Amino acid sequence: MRTRRAALAVTAVSLVLSLAACGQSSEGGSKDDTKDSGGSTIGIAMPTKSSERWIADGANMVAQFEKLGYRTNLQYGEDNVAQQVAQIENMITKGVDVLVIAAIDGRALSDVLQQAADRNIEVISYDRLILGTENVDYYASFDNEKVGVLQATYLLDKLGLKDGGKKGPFNIELFAGSPDDNNTRYFFDGAWKTLKPFIDRKQLVVRSGQTKLDQVTTLRWDGGTAQKRMDDLLTGAYGSQRVDAVLSPYDGISIGILSALKSDGYGTAAQPYPLVTGQDAEVASVKSIIAGQQTQTVYKDTRALAEQAVRMADAVLHDKKPEVNDEKTYDNEVKVVPAYLLDPVSVDKSNYRAELVDSGYIKASDLT
Ligand code: BGC
Repeated sequence: MRTRRAALAVTAVSLVLSLAACGQSSEGGSKDDTKDSGGSTIGIAMPTKSSERWIADGANMVAQFEKLGYRTNLQYGEDNVAQQVAQIENMITKGVDVLVIAAIDGRALSDVLQQAADRNIEVISYDRLILGTENVDYYASFDNEKVGVLQATYLLDKLGLKDGGKKGPFNIELFAGSPDDNNTRYFFDGAWKTLKPFIDRKQLVVRSGQTKLDQVTTLRWDGGTAQKRMDDLLTGAYGSQRVDAVLSPYDGISIGILSALKSDGYGTAAQPYPLVTGQDAEVASVKSIIAGQQTQTVYKDTRALAEQAVRMADAVLHDKKPEVNDEKTYDNEVKVVPAYLLDPVSVDKSNYRAELVDSGYIKASDLT
């Protein structure tokens, strides 16, 4: 590590010199090199602009890094794995000092991260753990299993099952995220272990029979894909029966599920929507919650996550060990990556104002 850090300092100095020599400046960067930042550049690779959380993540990091005097190079891979790899390669070639990466496919970065390691560039895995490589130094995320626990507990609570009553059976269907995102299994495992005792006791019934993770994933978290699957489930397993609850891992998926439900006649006084969970507190979903369609979401304050990643990058660039609060959970199959995990919060109609509006996460005017 020592040699790596020393080399890093040299890289930083030579970068300043070479930038000065060729009069270059990197994209999106503050032109004022401060003593603190040493003129370092942070490469930020985000997965897609199709979901508003990643836009906020990128913007928050750029703002916070630039406040400390760093330059930034922010790129979005638009859910195209090859494009993200090429973007990271390009950042390495241009001479970034630290990489912050939210991977599209957690397993696709081993080669490019070897190139980063060869140049002593430290890597912070952002929100999603990068798998199968030793060349990932720190991980900033939320307690991902807890996200699934919050979603499932919410459903149990609203169905009146939580206090050990004999209620039910209720029909439930399960959705999970993209199979190439490591978070997917944490979200699903958290939800599954919470729901399973009720499924075993037949108080919850999955009429489609699809309960294994590989039967319920949604490639690239795509709402249209989820809508199609929900259509098929309703046609195939629900003739005259009603679905009472849907475990959805992400707001974009929830919106797709709700469209399928609407086409099937749900959303009326006689046939109200089932309970539908979500994640990310995206504006469209919060509006849907207020309108009584989607029921719940999980709020993860991306401002706080960005802050954590910025702290980590700033620490490694100052030859310090970043603060972590978990050194055992996130095994990427080559090593356990030291992590800082933040706390997710369950949000529904009763607390969206306090959690999202009062905290300044969403403007009240965006919800009308
Ligand atoms: C993130 C979620 C997000 C999902 C889809 C996951 O890796 O943790 O917050 O909903 O990706 O973008």
